[in-house]
Amino acid sequence: MSRPIPISVLAAGIQESATIRLNQHAARLRAEGKPVIHLGIGEPTNRAPQTAIQGAEKLLAGGSLKYTATAGIPSLRQAIADYMLASYGREIPPGNVIASNGSKHSLLTVLLAILNSGEQVVIPAPYWVTYPEQVKLLGGRPVVVLPEPGSLLPTAEALLAAVGPQTRAILINSPNNPSGLALPESDLAKVVEFCEARGLYLILDDIYRELVFDGLRSPSPYAFTRHSLDESHLIVVNGVSKLYGMTGLRLGWTVGPRALVEAMDKLQSQMTSNPSVLSQAAAEGALRGDQTVVRELRATIEANRNSMLEALSQIGGLRIERPQGGLYCFPDFSSHGSSSKELAERLLERALVVTVPGVEFGMDGYLRLSFAGDREGILEGVSRIRWALDPASPNEIRLGDRVAVRDWA
Ligand code: PLP
Repeated sequence: MSRPIPISVLAAGIQESATIRLNQHAARLRAEGKPVIHLGIGEPTNRAPQTAIQGAEKLLAGGSLKYTATAGIPSLRQAIADYMLASYGREIPPGNVIASNGSKHSLLTVLLAILNSGEQVVIPAPYWVTYPEQVKLLGGRPVVVLPEPGSLLPTAEALLAAVGPQTRAILINSPNNPSGLALPESDLAKVVEFCEARGLYLILDDIYRELVFDGLRSPSPYAFTRHSLDESHLIVVNGVSKLYGMTGLRLGWTVGPRALVEAMDKLQSQMTSNPSVLSQAAAEGALRGDQTVVRELRATIEANRNSMLEALSQIGGLRIERPQGGLYCFPDFSSHGSSSKELAERLLERALVVTVPGVEFGMDGYLRLSFAGDREGILEGVSRIRWALDPASPNEIRLGDRVAVRDWA
């Protein structure tokens, strides 16, 4: 009899990322030749900006691929500071910037630097799947704040009411993954002011900041702080994954008080050292290059959002909040089944379309549908969902080279 391989309590208590698991499942089905449509993935299809490619090529041609400062090369930190000035209107010294291996890593390092065991982080639902797991990983306690029934955005008052003596931080993602909703500027102001008055950290995961639609502009949290950067408790996390559609580059960053950045630098120096020098060169190339690419990406994703909303409006029984930004739509599918996990499995099995169950984001009955991919896939995916769920839709559909017939009620 083989002996079990011992796994730490910590590792055993953490959930695998649901979205990564689904991506792997979809890849397996595709490898088996199944015509899967992937509405699960948060990854734009664009080509990387030319200036990013040139930045990496130049570094490679020079042949010097060495360690850098843990927090990143000075010119990258300056390029991030320049982006902060352009986008947030706030002068940021490069010493208040630290680059990490993707913003998921930035967030984990932030939490490592601020959270003691048993302390709480207030997280509005629906939330990105990773937040509660990262907090738990560090022995902290996620305190999830649900929106009012029928809404997808907890109010500032509800968030602040969840703060208690053990709360260390509030963690906000706007526009939000999965809802696509943005926190109203007046709510952001209230949360910034409250956090400053209480000495609480406000962590803003701003990864979708530039991906906003209908002419919306993301507000700058620095407009509401009365303190200098080093005295404020504002922490901004971002990266190149969604800004330039360079998800595989694994380059994110944190901007915050100098003492926090220094603590993160120390932690990172013992965990990963600097992010890959090649990724840093490509990220700097993108940040210093023509920003038309950001506008083009936004226009493409906004057109995709419109196509998805139009197609979803054909399906009976859904309640949909119009996403204001980001890469996802989060319709209420509860009239088609109360368990989102069961519904997502049913859609994958019958219609070969990947969606992510709302329960993974703290709200059952919903499904997250990504409009990051191409328009054709979005339309095909939604029409398959309609076929699988809506008896008013035609009985037959083409799935790849076969015709499938709906034989359930
Ligand atoms: N934050 C949110 C809200 C996300 O949706 C994602 C990725 O999907 C990330 C962070 C992670 O981004 P990165 O690729 O920079 O680690």
